[in-house]
Amino acid sequence: MSDKSVLVVNSGSSSIKYQLVEPETGRCIAKGLVEAIGEAGGHAKHTFGEEVKELDRVIDDHTVGMEIMEQLFAEVGPDLASCHIVAVGHRIVQGGKYFAGPALIDDDVHQKIVDLCPLGPLHNPAHLKGIDAARKIFPDLPHVAVFDTAFFQGLPEEAARYALNREVADKYEIRRYGAHGTSHQFVSGEVAAILGRDDLKQIVLHLGNGASASAVVAGKAVDTSMGLTPLEGLVMGGRTGDIDPAAVFHLAREAKMSIDEIDDLFNKQSGMKGLTGDNDMRRVWERIASGDENAQAAMDIYVHRLVKYVGAYHAVMGGLDVITFTAGIGENDAALRARLIDRLGFLGVELDEEANARRSDEARTISKEGSRVRVMVVPTNEEMAIARQAMTLV
Ligand code: ADP
Repeated sequence: MSDKSVLVVNSGSSSIKYQLVEPETGRCIAKGLVEAIGEAGGHAKHTFGEEVKELDRVIDDHTVGMEIMEQLFAEVGPDLASCHIVAVGHRIVQGGKYFAGPALIDDDVHQKIVDLCPLGPLHNPAHLKGIDAARKIFPDLPHVAVFDTAFFQGLPEEAARYALNREVADKYEIRRYGAHGTSHQFVSGEVAAILGRDDLKQIVLHLGNGASASAVVAGKAVDTSMGLTPLEGLVMGGRTGDIDPAAVFHLAREAKMSIDEIDDLFNKQSGMKGLTGDNDMRRVWERIASGDENAQAAMDIYVHRLVKYVGAYHAVMGGLDVITFTAGIGENDAALRARLIDRLGFLGVELDEEANARRSDEARTISKEGSRVRVMVVPTNEEMAIARQAMTLV
């Protein structure tokens, strides 16, 4: 079997995604998903090479979910005992002010992740369930927390601090923490490695169901679009992205909506879903093709927001060398990429239409030779990045 491997766990409120990764090569040895935990009908799927096994059963909690994962490894393979697992890497969304890099989960780190739950209410409690369950199943392995916010811990104060009353902001720790940092760090690092330059001014556009932009200078993040929570910034599958916070006051006063209702509206019922009825970009394009005007308007809003961020980050960095697309939409949606690049002619960006249209899983350049700003597509691999970060601590 492989040399060394890391089990990467991404635990959500009702799901556990896992991957067994060989950090050195980035090879995914096996992966799976346990979902609908705590719901009426649970489901699990495990993939090892050509072998796929699915099962349906009630899954009471994350511990049972983790036991099912272990059972699937035993039944389908690979045999965990022969995989030389050196760590379990846990994806954690909110690392707050504490974590600028990965951390070995001991009692202190565990407590800090607990303390950060108010700042990551949708994510950290779910991650803790995953951590607690995994520690029960793998008590002898080191568990490492890899934080989505870590790459943005060192943002300059001018980018990280809101112009909110200082006393209140400090007391309640309200600042820009960002998210998707593991992906932005990985992708910007890949770009630097591919181009053999460590002085680049980059914009990374992570466009998946969640979406975020970052400005990276010489490997350091200088700004990012997600804020206190992943709600801020770009238009997303179900999230508004930027919106005047006064909309909250207005809905509370006029529509008598509760804070939880507004939270749900902004985080889950808005974005492309709230504008078109679909959060999947492929469906949105289908709607546009069938003449749906709301879908067309939603696409215009989506692209407009991207244009604003690219322009802003260009200005913030005082220049721009590379724009990189990543994640589900960024990697696959050539039409969306073309639309955005078409609006960036003022930057001297020239798209190579053929390269843009070509489908590939490889990192690639899609701008023309001689384009003043290079445009790339770089597949993100958060699991590999988490595995590699976990390795650094064991
Ligand atoms: P997340 O990890 O945030 O859930 P992903 O990065 O996996 O999301 O991206 C998922 C999204 O990618 C889907 O909701 C869909 O909108 C988009 N997507 C995937 N494939 C395509 C495609 N071929 N064309 C356009 N959009 C796509």
